[in-house]
Amino acid sequence: IKVQTTSRTYPVIIGKNLISHLSNILSNIELAPTKMMVITDETVSTLFRDRFERELKTIGIDYFFHVVPSGEKSKSFETYYECMTAALTNHLDRRSLMIAFGGGVIGDLTGFIAATYMRGIPFLQIPTTLLAHDSAVGGKVAINHPLGKNMIGAFYQPHAVIYDIQFLETLPIDEIRSGFAEVVKHGLIKDPLFVDWLVQHVHHLQQLKEEQLLTFIEKGITIKAEIVSEDEKELGTRAFLNFGHTLGHALEAALGYGRISHGDAVAIGMLFALYVSNQTFGIDLGYERMKEWFQKIGFPTSVHSSISSEQLCERMKNDKKSVNNEIRMVLLENIGTPKLVNFDEKTIYSLLQQWRGGAI
Ligand code: NAD
Ligand code: ZN
Repeated sequence: IKVQTTSRTYPVIIGKNLISHLSNILSNIELAPTKMMVITDETVSTLFRDRFERELKTIGIDYFFHVVPSGEKSKSFETYYECMTAALTNHLDRRSLMIAFGGGVIGDLTGFIAATYMRGIPFLQIPTTLLAHDSAVGGKVAINHPLGKNMIGAFYQPHAVIYDIQFLETLPIDEIRSGFAEVVKHGLIKDPLFVDWLVQHVHHLQQLKEEQLLTFIEKGITIKAEIVSEDEKELGTRAFLNFGHTLGHALEAALGYGRISHGDAVAIGMLFALYVSNQTFGIDLGYERMKEWFQKIGFPTSVHSSISSEQLCERMKNDKKSVNNEIRMVLLENIGTPKLVNFDEKTIYSLLQQWRGGAI
């Protein structure tokens, strides 16, 4: 799949056992790096470093690994600084290559390092989670500030994304479900037939067949690539990718990052966005069908009662996408037809209370 942006056009290659072709892939994208720095996390390193290193050794280019702790905490100033130190002490130059080998955390961190090391050097995404079908494509890279997630970042496109599904075999079910939420999101904002296909064919997320996985990933990436190609810097349609994320992000922040997976939070957020769409446009987008299906495949479908709607509204207002204290949501006029709508806080509060079955 080709991603075409004003800053770069690059391929997303999807398949099994792709890393054995790394050397070919590098020459196809005309990269002959002086050196390679692979950034990965402890979990991925334990599972796959040997396998990956076997391939790297055959290429004949100098490389080294830099392993960071697993999880969101690595999108920090400290880890960023340590990676920069490693790059400098290993004498990476402008023609060296950074490789992000891991999930969304590693992709976002490595991309931001690559964007800023010597004002930008090439990088590759080799995603190892289902969620990273989303995060590795599109060039949004960032680390977190204690005051806000993804607040320090850049738009910086990789030279290629190599999505080798052999790495997904070890992914825990919670992580599969988390990534699957973004697959559903891509369908809901762009492709009603794909949504029907998903609802009819996916009854659980355990032991997914390889061909099913490939179908989701390919479809999800195609939709993401189309949107990013239209609007790299999020001046217009790219905002549709935030479907389900207004409440989703608020929920993650209110519960504390890591207490709920990104995908579970987005699943709840998508149900709320469907509800608000139904109310706003006076239509029925199959809310009940979606909710039942979400329950069947293991998503939570409501906000825990310990979190107040006031708290959530406050968080939604502070979203970096909101302007003038209004809350901006992506709604659906139909499955596959998204629309941005601004609400004042009071309206969202009432809708949220109604949806939660509480007092308005
Ligand atoms: P992650 O990278 O932390 O991976 C989740 C967990 O799975 C980690 O503990 C990791 O060590 C482990 N893991 C990774 N690959 C594995 C494998 N093959 N087998 C077993 N375990 C494995 O998180 P994620 O869910 O992939 O990504 C979340 C991050 O992505 C967030 O920081 C989010 O902000 C970011 N994100 C970015 C974008 C974007 O456009 N840049 C989009 C969505 C999400
Ligand atoms: Zn997301």
